[in-house]
Amino acid sequence: MAVSPKATDFFAASEAGAADHELQRKLESASARHLEHFAEVRDEFTPYENERATARAIKENALGRLDELIVELTEKLTDHDCKVFFAASADEAREYIVKLATQCGARHVVKGKSMTTEEIALNPALERAGIEVLETDLGEYIVQLRGEPPSHIITPAIHLSKEDIGELFHEKFRVSYTPEPEKLTAEARTRLRESFLRADFGITGVNFAIAETGTLVVVENEGNGRMSSTIPEVFVALMGIEKVIPKLSDLPHFLEILARTATGQKLTTYTNFLRGPRADGDLDGPREMHVVIIDNGRSAMLSDPVLRESLMCIRCGACLNVCPVYRHIGGHAYRSPYPGPIGSIVSPSLIGSSTAYLPFASTLCGACKDVCPVHIDIPRILLHLRWKETSSPAPPPWPHDAHRARAGARMFARLARYPRIIRFLGHIAAVLVKPFAENGWIGSMPPPFANWTKVRDFPAPRPGHPRPANSAGKSIRNGRS
Ligand code: SF4
Repeated sequence: MAVSPKATDFFAASEAGAADHELQRKLESASARHLEHFAEVRDEFTPYENERATARAIKENALGRLDELIVELTEKLTDHDCKVFFAASADEAREYIVKLATQCGARHVVKGKSMTTEEIALNPALERAGIEVLETDLGEYIVQLRGEPPSHIITPAIHLSKEDIGELFHEKFRVSYTPEPEKLTAEARTRLRESFLRADFGITGVNFAIAETGTLVVVENEGNGRMSSTIPEVFVALMGIEKVIPKLSDLPHFLEILARTATGQKLTTYTNFLRGPRADGDLDGPREMHVVIIDNGRSAMLSDPVLRESLMCIRCGACLNVCPVYRHIGGHAYRSPYPGPIGSIVSPSLIGSSTAYLPFASTLCGACKDVCPVHIDIPRILLHLRWKETSSPAPPPWPHDAHRARAGARMFARLARYPRIIRFLGHIAAVLVKPFAENGWIGSMPPPFANWTKVRDFPAPRPGHPRPANSAGKSIRNGRS
């Protein structure tokens, strides 16, 4: 049976993540800080629950007439002298941007934070064309220096401590080691500023695209999005079709819930409104502005009655912060630019079937649904994707252990109808595992059960386990008591 290399990688990487207690400590502490900040600003301007309901209603409405809104947006952008390109796939979007950069003679690209550029693997393609690409968001800059992808959609370097970053700067820039965030930020700022001034091509993502006015909105905290979109002569904004909202008056609802849930702020420091290239008499702004609107699986998601809800996501990252799986294994283990709960539901569509194992990487605890600012029912979508995957006639892309697990579950379901047999087997099991048990727990088991106890303890079955109160030796199966 064909096994996806990414699935195999995922199992290995999640085992490594689960064994990395230092990683878990960093993720737990970042997550606790985030929840603390969120609690402080939750109801700052307007009641949070009202904003959530309004934002969801706007997104539902927008998804219902996406075709019409995209036409309206495109007309407005074109009126503002933007060049709009529709990309059906990641390949088309990537090829368009690389070709454009090459034709413009670009040598130095500065990029604002954009998960969609990660989705289309833009950086390696630009680099293959001999063009230098610099990530300018501080977290993205740090992970780029380490040669690794972001591990969180909002906090790309969440897996690193200030000491790790101090060592990185010391090694890469030959500066004295310091773990002080202010000094590290100042060092990065000086270097990034030089790069902005020599950049000839800028790229950012888009948080919201307002159809009514033809305005692209980019929110950020460092000013790098503003500099990437205004200093270079040519600027490209890359957005998924789902980023469109109908009206300018819809925007404040999203700005409020995004800042609160993403970073625990009342509002992000910079809210950039991009409407077109510089006009005659303007002092700054790009000479050319291109907007690449990408589908890449989104239309198919829209046509699926359950999955379409995932297109409401505003990429706040809150579901990652509360997810017990993400907090246990870290973002890199997912082997997708979109990790965590949201990654598990969008990756199979946006990244491809090589990530079809991700909907299974969840405990279905529901914390993601509770925290989501637009109330996306992630557990329901996960179950839907699992069902689709297991109903598919094609062989699934994860290792055959899953089949063994399913066969085991079927066998257990049959046996569970006979409580006496279950008790008898439990008694046998208790005798067999007795040599491995200590204080009621089994810490390690020999093969083929060794994987069970690699990262968790197993409660030892107890001989003579009390009978269920309603059994009294009669069959539960027949409903008699
Ligand atoms: S699914 Fe909800 S919580 Fe998760 S990133 Fe998207 S909007 Fe935020």
